[in-house]
Amino acid sequence: MENRACKNCQQNFTIDEVDAAYYKKIDVPFPTFCPRCRLQRRLAWRNERNLFKRKCDKTGRDMISNLRPDANIPVYHVDAWFKDDWTAPAWPSFDFNKTFFEQFSNLHRVSPHMHKATGGNEVNSEYMNHAGNCKNCYFIFNSEYIEDSMYLKFCDHVKDSLDCTNVIKSELCYECVNVEHGYNLQFCDDCKSSRDCAFIRFCRGTSNSLFCYGLEQKEYHIFNEPHSKDSYYEQLKAWNLSSWSGLQHAITQWNEWSSQFPFKREIILNCENATGDGLYNCRNALDCYNCSELHDCRYLVNAVRCKDSYDLFAYGETELGYEFVTAFKSYNVKFSVYTINSSDMEYCDSCYNCNHCFGCVGLNRRSYCILNKQYSKEEYEDLVKRIKAKMRETGEYGEFFPAELSCFPYGDSMAQDYFPKEEKVTPPPQGTFREVSELPDDMKGADIEEIIQHSYRCPETGKLFRFQKQELEFYKKTNVPIPRMSFEARYLRRNKLVPFPA
Ligand SMILES: [Zn+2]
Repeated sequence: MENRACKNCQQNFTIDEVDAAYYKKIDVPFPTFCPRCRLQRRLAWRNERNLFKRKCDKTGRDMISNLRPDANIPVYHVDAWFKDDWTAPAWPSFDFNKTFFEQFSNLHRVSPHMHKATGGNEVNSEYMNHAGNCKNCYFIFNSEYIEDSMYLKFCDHVKDSLDCTNVIKSELCYECVNVEHGYNLQFCDDCKSSRDCAFIRFCRGTSNSLFCYGLEQKEYHIFNEPHSKDSYYEQLKAWNLSSWSGLQHAITQWNEWSSQFPFKREIILNCENATGDGLYNCRNALDCYNCSELHDCRYLVNAVRCKDSYDLFAYGETELGYEFVTAFKSYNVKFSVYTINSSDMEYCDSCYNCNHCFGCVGLNRRSYCILNKQYSKEEYEDLVKRIKAKMRETGEYGEFFPAELSCFPYGDSMAQDYFPKEEKVTPPPQGTFREVSELPDDMKGADIEEIIQHSYRCPETGKLFRFQKQELEFYKKTNVPIPRMSFEARYLRRNKLVPFPA
């Protein structure tokens, strides 16, 4: 057991025998940053939810990208990126008089990046990122198999839903977090196999219930008390949840009543030797959050099916991954970003189907490259050895890319969501806009066409936002009032309920 002071925040952190053995096995020096500072540094390299209109630097086509139009790097539409009609630029050869990060950064700035991360098969769903198989969707992030939905994050097989985070195999859900097999749920969290409910938490197999905590296989309950079917519907009507004022009253009552119960997830399920939160089917998974099917892992967040890995954020099917953000189908990849279906890589960004590369950016189907330059196997092995020795001298080897080198401004990255830096005060919005208090109290009779004409000022973020037609039609159909804050503010509020290291 060794105690160290974090080089970034100066807090103490420990490296125990298991950690030490792991670092020795993958041949890296002990980390100098504590686990939280390492996570923050990695997250600066992932912009999941901030999208911009811009042009493809190869074809000139208009597109929606997670890279700003004024980002100081070339950005290609993913279709153009995967074509074989261009060659990635290469750094002449490693200069032992300069630092590695300086040379990597120069290469990074001229290497074409993909316009966003897409799993493909997007039908009428351009506004999505780190997502795939979406149909008629808008603002979908880190999700797969979604239909007719908006503003979802970390969802899988979800239909006809809005404002949900961490929801799987569900339909007609609104403002739900950590829900599985849900149908027609509103303002529910941490529930399984439940339907036609609002404001329920830690319930399973529950239907037609309101304001309930920890129920199993119950129906027609309000505040955990049973009701007859008629009495239930009578009371439900009296709560008037389709109006803004009725909903605010309900939220206040629910917060007050539910605060008597512990907010304790029981979702370390089928795990052996696991610590963290939101874990399923894991063995030897320590300090992991929102993960499933991990074996021998530590400090993983939002990952599935990983083995023998440390310090991973997002995706999965990775073995021997270390200090890696956005990993998928990878083996023995360290200090890398968005490196997919690749093996034996270090310090790479945006590489697909590669092996044995060091310090490379934007390569597809290549091997034995250093700073994008091609070498023979023997030359590669010799040079990487010498570069690493030099990097150990300068203290670079073992450190993830500095946050400042990311192609995303900190404020666009996921680091801002979880480790917010103080932002400049948002200037008062320009032009004409309305206050959210001018929205109708009830969707009944609301004029959708009229509402979508105007910008509204979000009372939480101070920024202007607009409502989408599809969104207002959803509120009308499901009888919920129009929310009085922007998508971003709603997202950040829900995000607090998702398992994440404290
Ligand atoms: Zn720290």
